[in-house]
Amino acid sequence: MESRIADAAQRAGRRRQDITLLAVTKKFPASKMREAYELGLREFGENYVQEFEGKRLELGTCTEARFHLIGHLQSNKAKRAAEIFQVVQTVDTPKLARRLNEEMASDGKALDVMIEVKLSTEEAKSGAAPESLPALIEAIRCSANLRLLGLMTIPPWSQEAERSRPYFTRLRKLAEENRLPQLSMGMSNDFEVAIAEGATIVRIGTALFGPRRKE
Ligand SMILES: *Cc1c(COP(=O)(O)O)cnc(C)c1O
Repeated sequence: MESRIADAAQRAGRRRQDITLLAVTKKFPASKMREAYELGLREFGENYVQEFEGKRLELGTCTEARFHLIGHLQSNKAKRAAEIFQVVQTVDTPKLARRLNEEMASDGKALDVMIEVKLSTEEAKSGAAPESLPALIEAIRCSANLRLLGLMTIPPWSQEAERSRPYFTRLRKLAEENRLPQLSMGMSNDFEVAIAEGATIVRIGTALFGPRRKE
């Protein structure tokens, strides 16, 4: 994995250190995460507040780890999410941003957030429509306790990595227009294309840990 990321960066004329490998550990036990931590991984992505809730106590000694929420977040779980994650990548409404900001107010620290952008017409996907971005960005920038890092997206899944490219290009342009530095895009099947299009965070599960068990 490390050499594939380094090669993709080099081909794109980019520096390896400008790309973060986010290890996606949904459905894998805390023991697997600890193993990955011991091998040097520091950034972890989890999809469900409740699932991570159960694992985090076992990860208490992984003091340098940062945990990102990459699954959809309902406002009623914002409080808990703000407490247990260092980054929430899936902010998609001003209401959710407001809730997270309020929760952090008592904490005195800022929460790192990203906006999930919905670029495909697939029905079931969450994320903010590109048209709603200016208002959402403004809402987050006015939130004293939130720090906006950038944008995140999930293109429709395809075996063919090249099919993801237009979505990645679009996200990069939206980030540039809004002067946002971070781009969370690319998964096991298409991260090399994402790196070519400017990804700063690639979210990798299967290619690191093998297949997840089915529901
Ligand atoms: C599961 C998941 C990933 C990782 O997917 P793989 O194909 O296993 O690499 C990345 N991002 C999100 C949002 C996910 O839900």
